[in-house]
Amino acid sequence: MYTIEIISTILEQKLLKNNNNANEINELVYDSRKIANPAESLFFALQAARDGHQFIPDAYQKGVRNFIVSEAVPFFTDKDDVNVIQVDDPLAAMQTIVAFHRAQFSFPIIGITGSNGKSIVKAWLFQLLSPDRKVYQSPKSYNSQLGVALSLWNLNAHYDLAIIEAGISEPGEMDRLEKMIKPTIGVLTNIGLAHAQHFDSKTQKLTEKLKLFTGVEALIANPAYIDDSLVPADADWMRWGRDATDDIQLVETVIHINSTTLHLRIGEEDKTCSVPFTDKASLENILTCISVLWYLGYGSDVIVERITGLKPLEMRLQLKKGINNTSIIDDSYSNDLASLRISLEFLQQQNQHENKTLILSEMEGLTENDKFQHKLVDLLNTNGINRLIWVGKQYAWLDRLAIANKLVFTDTEELLKALSDLRFAEESILIKGARVFQFERIVQRLTLRSHGTVMEINLNAISNNLMAYRSLLPNQVKLMAMVKAFSYGSGSFEVANLLQFSKVDYLTVAFADEGVELRAAGISLPIMVLSPDRETFRSLLKYNLEPEVYSMAFLNEFITFLKEENRRDFPIHLKLDTGMHRLGFFPSEISAAIDVINANPEVRVQSFFTHLVASGDPSQDDFTRMQIQQYEEAATQLAEGIGYTFIRHVANTSAIVRWPQAHLDMVRLGIGLYGVDMDHTMGNLEEVSRLKTTVTQIKELPAGETVGYDRKGVLKRDSKIATVKIGYADGYLRRFGNGIGKMQIGSQFVATIGNICMDMCMLDVTDVNVQVGDEVLVFPDLMQAAKDIGTIPYELLVNISSRVKRVYYYE
Ligand SMILES: *Cc1c(COP(=O)(O)O)cnc(C)c1O
Repeated sequence: MYTIEIISTILEQKLLKNNNNANEINELVYDSRKIANPAESLFFALQAARDGHQFIPDAYQKGVRNFIVSEAVPFFTDKDDVNVIQVDDPLAAMQTIVAFHRAQFSFPIIGITGSNGKSIVKAWLFQLLSPDRKVYQSPKSYNSQLGVALSLWNLNAHYDLAIIEAGISEPGEMDRLEKMIKPTIGVLTNIGLAHAQHFDSKTQKLTEKLKLFTGVEALIANPAYIDDSLVPADADWMRWGRDATDDIQLVETVIHINSTTLHLRIGEEDKTCSVPFTDKASLENILTCISVLWYLGYGSDVIVERITGLKPLEMRLQLKKGINNTSIIDDSYSNDLASLRISLEFLQQQNQHENKTLILSEMEGLTENDKFQHKLVDLLNTNGINRLIWVGKQYAWLDRLAIANKLVFTDTEELLKALSDLRFAEESILIKGARVFQFERIVQRLTLRSHGTVMEINLNAISNNLMAYRSLLPNQVKLMAMVKAFSYGSGSFEVANLLQFSKVDYLTVAFADEGVELRAAGISLPIMVLSPDRETFRSLLKYNLEPEVYSMAFLNEFITFLKEENRRDFPIHLKLDTGMHRLGFFPSEISAAIDVINANPEVRVQSFFTHLVASGDPSQDDFTRMQIQQYEEAATQLAEGIGYTFIRHVANTSAIVRWPQAHLDMVRLGIGLYGVDMDHTMGNLEEVSRLKTTVTQIKELPAGETVGYDRKGVLKRDSKIATVKIGYADGYLRRFGNGIGKMQIGSQFVATIGNICMDMCMLDVTDVNVQVGDEVLVFPDLMQAAKDIGTIPYELLVNISSRVKRVYYYE
């Protein structure tokens, strides 16, 4: 049990302020929005994209009294009820505490690193070892300096083995992770090129990664990735590969359409097993898992039996449309406290309905550990859940929950039978269950069917991209997120909810009705409307939407309307035309605009902005410089003329990166948020959307036949043709026809053949292993696809029709 006194001893730092409370500290928190149990929380003011010190008042207001800071905090001056420890680096302090905590346990800890496959190996090992061991795995992608610390903090005496994933992006990071994790068994997965940008060479990166294994007793690795000199001196090296000298040898593989037969030599024995994968990466990951099991002492028969039962993992939480206007959050693949916390956070963040139902399965560790129960109860009580549907044999603990509506089923079968009598409507439903409970069957019953084509949106990637751009901005610069055109095709309130939760300062839409939709979904952030028109003035006022004002005529018209409505001080955003020549006042008109604004208290200038026409193009830098200068002169003139300040903003995505002098008071982030790195300068953006369809039919046709309208697709050889359900009505433009468009099936690329139809198109799959029902990735490389038809990624994204279902997920 940790009290603040003990924490201060671990850190060898005196308490700056001490309120003498002996509360146990159970939660390490760093985000004031995510506090479940304030009395037992220790808040770390981390220096991240935002300075954590600014959230101290919020954390205090929520009831937190224990703080780790790195500077003097004036807020504490008149507070006698807080405990404060000041350190140089709060993150390092958290890691020191966690290292101490980890040292309390002597069970084996498997540390996994590598470029690819870490999460999958972790999840598979969890699946393979769970039948007879109590395994802790670090949640989802918690593999960073902060993520690993938070994961290790969850270790407790209930477990007898832990699997921790470690990822690095910069030199020097692995040392810190190693000191916390102190793995006993090291696992090196595939070494590829991920995260290479901060490293000089592949060797430097590998050497850095291997620091995780400094003190291990055994290392599991393929000799293709390392040699003897890199294995720690005291460690056993368990090798896997295709060589007869390897401990686990892959003798032969026979690849079928959906599975692979593996001929293995495990120790001295020859074994055969079949796995439901065909790709090389999965096979490597399986060999890694086999090696770990072998090292842990499992016999070859048990290994083969468990490997044969291995299932592909859907390792992420998905947001789907459900029956009766419900939102389904599907997290039916695992259940433990840490991952439950993540999905509850997501439920809060996607605040789609007032009513929230949680369908939850029994959890490993619930019975024996009172502290565990206590944490679970706190977590559930503080997340606004109206109804809990519990599937499990233990239910005495439910009495401690403050949730009024509780239903209990002893197993999934029983719940399925009762499902149609339970009413689900107009609510968010989080479905969270351990794999054995097969909650996917519940998900299936409650979600709406989608036709073959879907656009998957990775909400995590949006968060990540937002952070990546934020980290380029000084603290005081505000951020406006462009959500116009259905958030560049990726969805409206789902994305806006995330952005609101992430505390962006402004949202921007193209038309008033887009703003109305966001307000109806409960978005309270200020919203700017780029192209307001007279017909929508009433909506602007009613829904508090702030128009861009781009001409004298428009300014006068809007003022007249505000006078009729008796409104004053309505915020407007004045647009200056410095070269785009689309909308906006010329610099020469500013003086007249000032006169009108000064004479009419109905409007107040909230911001003044211009749009750069070529901020990403180095050959146009002189022009961009001229635009910025014209803007600055006009902004000075305006400020003097109206006598008050306003938000000044100029920079779009490319300018955030290329024109730091144009950050001014606020930036307008668009395409970069959605993961498209137009200038190839970011390196750390994540892909946000993937458009997927499925193969509907396959035909064998002889040479000379033609495919599709107007007989454009002439077969030059005997061919195999697949039909997929995406056409120009879905936004797959006709220009992609006749071989221009390339799609991906499994790891293979295939081209379109013939003209694109309205709802379908055909692919030449002659050389490819393919079956009806196979998944097809429509734009394997969005940037390239845009280039192939002479356009830009923006156009492809926003063209994807709204009839294509969006499925949101969160890793
Ligand atoms: C769309 C838009 C942006 C965002 O541009 P990106 O290149 O996508 O970052 C910024 N400002 C205005 C006025 C826009 O219309």
